Amino acid sequence: MADKKKEMEKLNEEMIACSKCALRKGCNQVVPGEGSADARIVFIGEGPGAKEDQLGRPFVGAAGKFLDEMLEIINLKREDVYIANTVKCRPPQNRDPLDEEKEACWPWLEKQIDLIKPDLIVTLGKHSLEKFLPGQKISEVHGKALRRDFPGLGKQVFFALYHPAAALYNGSMREILIKDFKRIPKIFELIDKEKDSKIKENNHSQGRLLK
Ligand code: SF4
Repeated sequence: MADKKKEMEKLNEEMIACSKCALRKGCNQVVPGEGSADARIVFIGEGPGAKEDQLGRPFVGAAGKFLDEMLEIINLKREDVYIANTVKCRPPQNRDPLDEEKEACWPWLEKQIDLIKPDLIVTLGKHSLEKFLPGQKISEVHGKALRRDFPGLGKQVFFALYHPAAALYNGSMREILIKDFKRIPKIFELIDKEKDSKIKENNHSQGRLLK
């Protein structure tokens, strides 16, 4: 929808002008995110790395290339999805973002998700997982779809994946990630089925959708 696209552009402009936390001082530019405002699926990583900071786009380094490859496996392109991070500015030396930085940046991500209203939120790596599904271990929940009532966002289906960067130099991790990724079309099928039959787990605010 054109209006949604315009709203997204406006939101991007606001994000680009943000200097709410200390991360902005140490980076080259804000990396808002990119993709379709009508995406059914939003991928959320941790924060921009050196290449992303340089180009102003998310997931453009080696990990991004691997993400593109996996999208292709399930017949999706970057333009079909939306890709964002929990913080929009690169932490110095790629350190983990601090809690206060994640908190300061959260309203931007919340607005992005609220605008896009995706069917599925895919967390990439443990930091993104921790934001949406606190207390869950990535080794236990990767490759599983979980529905949660998330404050400010309402009921959402989350799908946890290892971060593509973790698989770059680890063959077995790469296999796990690709295997998990290939489950995404099946999850869409289940979501569509639920929509059709209007079941949507109305009686269960929280629960596993798919093992
Ligand atoms: S990390 Fe987020 S909150 Fe901090 S300055 Fe960048 S855009 Fe603003």
